[in-house]
Amino acid sequence: MTTRTASCRCGQLTVTCTGEPVRVSVCHCFACQQRSGSAFAV
Ligand SMILES: [Zn+2]
Repeated sequence: MTTRTASCRCGQLTVTCTGEPVRVSVCHCFACQQRSGSAFAV
């Protein structure tokens, strides 16, 4: 089974899970716009 790791932008928090994602979403908040340099972030 696939192991996936997620972490926040500052790297202080990580989480690991196994399996496939139920879905992938996009966020349009200002922080994600700044982080990605786009109108949204995946
Ligand atoms: Zn966001």
